[in-house]
Amino acid sequence: MAFFQSETLWVNQLSDGVAGLVLDVPGKGLNVLSRCVLADLEAALDRVAADGSFCLLVLRSAKPGSFVAGADIHELASLEGPDAAARYSEEGQRVFGKLANLPIPTAAIVTGACLGGGLELALACDYRVALAHPRTQFGLPEVELGLLPAWGGTQRLPRAVGVERALRVIVGGRRLGAAEALKWGLVDELTNENEEEPPACLSSPVKRPSDRPPLRTWRQRFLESTAPGRWLIFRGSERLIRRRAPDDMPAPWEALEAVRVGLREGFAAGLAYERAAAARLAGTDACRNLIRLFLMREEARRPWQGKNRANVEPIRRVGIVGAGTMGAAIAQLAVLKKCEVVVREPNEGALGMGIMRLLDLFKRAVEAGVLAPTDMAKLLANVHGTTAWKGFADLDLCLEAVAENQQLKRTVFRDLEEHTARSTILATNTSSLRVEPLAEGLQRPERVAGLHFFNPVHKMPLVEVVRTPATKRHVLDSLAAWVVGLGKVPVFVKDSPGFVVNRVLAPYLHEAILLLAEGARTSALDAAMHRFGMPMGPLEVLDQVGIDVAAEIARSLQPVFVGRLEPNPALDRLKEAGLLGQKRGVGFYRYRRGRSRENDQAMRLVREVVPARSQEPASPRDQMAAARARLVGLMVNEAARCLGEGVAESAEQIDLAMVLGSGWAPHRGGPLRYAEQRGYSAVVDELAALAGRHGPRFEPCAELRRLGQEPQQPRMNADQHS
Ligand code: NAD
Repeated sequence: MAFFQSETLWVNQLSDGVAGLVLDVPGKGLNVLSRCVLADLEAALDRVAADGSFCLLVLRSAKPGSFVAGADIHELASLEGPDAAARYSEEGQRVFGKLANLPIPTAAIVTGACLGGGLELALACDYRVALAHPRTQFGLPEVELGLLPAWGGTQRLPRAVGVERALRVIVGGRRLGAAEALKWGLVDELTNENEEEPPACLSSPVKRPSDRPPLRTWRQRFLESTAPGRWLIFRGSERLIRRRAPDDMPAPWEALEAVRVGLREGFAAGLAYERAAAARLAGTDACRNLIRLFLMREEARRPWQGKNRANVEPIRRVGIVGAGTMGAAIAQLAVLKKCEVVVREPNEGALGMGIMRLLDLFKRAVEAGVLAPTDMAKLLANVHGTTAWKGFADLDLCLEAVAENQQLKRTVFRDLEEHTARSTILATNTSSLRVEPLAEGLQRPERVAGLHFFNPVHKMPLVEVVRTPATKRHVLDSLAAWVVGLGKVPVFVKDSPGFVVNRVLAPYLHEAILLLAEGARTSALDAAMHRFGMPMGPLEVLDQVGIDVAAEIARSLQPVFVGRLEPNPALDRLKEAGLLGQKRGVGFYRYRRGRSRENDQAMRLVREVVPARSQEPASPRDQMAAARARLVGLMVNEAARCLGEGVAESAEQIDLAMVLGSGWAPHRGGPLRYAEQRGYSAVVDELAALAGRHGPRFEPCAELRRLGQEPQQPRMNADQHS
């Protein structure tokens, strides 16, 4: 019988006076810290302290492969008002304080994700032992939700690993694997999966209060032991935030200040700052938008997770036609998620190249520490290659990822229908073409759909699942379930050119080129959009996609924009000149040794072929503000058009697709949320004014006007309902 038992945890009496506390939050695949868990933990700690017979408390998780994933975001989302946020912070601080001040030594055994509140919990222990496995990960991602670690994390982490390193985690979002955590002194010892011996560091444990940051390395001794040294560290972080954090995102500044106050005025003052900052941040648009996106992302995956997946066809055997950039990356992901994969290329040479690409991706996964080297060989046994159609007769899904060419894709679909079973689902990874014409004349159009993955596949969380009028519902559900199994987020979209993401981006990328033609500088335009919150500026995006590919996509999308955007010759001109973007080391930027600088030649070529229509106001600052209004306005307008045309089911789905598929300023919640928060009618007025100055492409669409005429809900209510 357990020494202590509650809803979310229990404590066992282990041998030699050791108490083993096991966290197991019911109904969840991962432990998350809620008020209920905190209350259970507090009660358990009180019992252990009162008992007086224990000499060590060891915390671990009952969830395979994870320790604690963080605070319960649903609970965070339900906090109403700044006082509730401050109280929530105070509750966690009090319980973790109790753990830190327990009269006996404490240790956290970390096997897997130890993030956010989970790391704050582990930091309140005297010892941390971690499993040496790629799954083990430490981090404080609160700033990514517009918050700061407010259960003591901004105070305990600098005292565990040093100020500079702590700031990299708290402000810079750095995650640490097991080996790095050991090197930094965040963990005391690593263990292996089948280790039977208890960790050596726990053989004679002691209380280890840490009042000040450690001085383990020469750099720490040099910089962190003196006030001027610390000043330099904070100045470096301020620079980093100014460079990286977008406008209207106060969280990293608050987190930095919490660390600074704690070091200058002491631990208690630091905790008080955490509480006050949590209250301030919880009420910001940035925080509300980021939490809302987190929940929307979860919601989009929920119908196809676990037991909910009753009516779907399982997808285990997958064929991929074309092992180029996308095909190879999708094949790798599928194999990592335990699918059997066969890739097809038209000849031996191309197949060899495809397999090399795949091997390279696996090697990089091993180098990045996300895949154990021993697992690589096992997984590779599940990939087969063919130049004929060997292995295609009994597949669950076949995905074509050949070049973006309608005729080629139609031919591939015909071949697929001939060489696959009647039950195989056929899908295309096209990024801009409509799916229905590709499937024209096929016997089984009801089993054809689009599955638009984004590049780079391992990083981009979105997959647009495209339904044609003929696609059967359970085919779409099966694809969505597979996508969720791959760890991605499915968003259903209508079969229209460019679906949501590329369609909304198209006028934005087009406008960036017009702005260049008017005299704006490449880096200034990209910087303006970084400040808005985009991870990449429009010209950086074009270079990453590839100028030739972008030109092809622009052509495919042209029918959507007839009468609004004129065909733009700039991309073809750059292509002719061999400026193909990153893959060739030169495009709008020149890339060398991991660095990039503006390419004047590209700006000149654009100005040769695109006539400058208007000139923006004189000062560079005003110029960039005007450029940003044009770039953002076009995306908002196009997103509203997609909503009006039913390209996705709701404004939320469009926002989710834009954030996950293009990195669209997450703290602004997506283009339609941004318009809602600014006020639709204000956006309509701004677009109408831009249309007067720059032409009909800015004319506010009917859907935006309609939204502008609807009575707006009071802001607080809108947020609470979400
Ligand atoms: P790619 O040129 O890198 O790869 C295409 C591969 O298809 C090549 O390896 C080629 O040898 C192979 N191929 C050509 N004809 C074939 C045939 N008949 N049978 C089998 N293989 C054949 O192209 P990519 O960038 O991987 O793009 C593939 C698809 O994915 C396109 O539809 C593209 O629009 C879409 N997409 C690309 C990106 C991107 O950023 N690259 C992003 C999203 C979607």
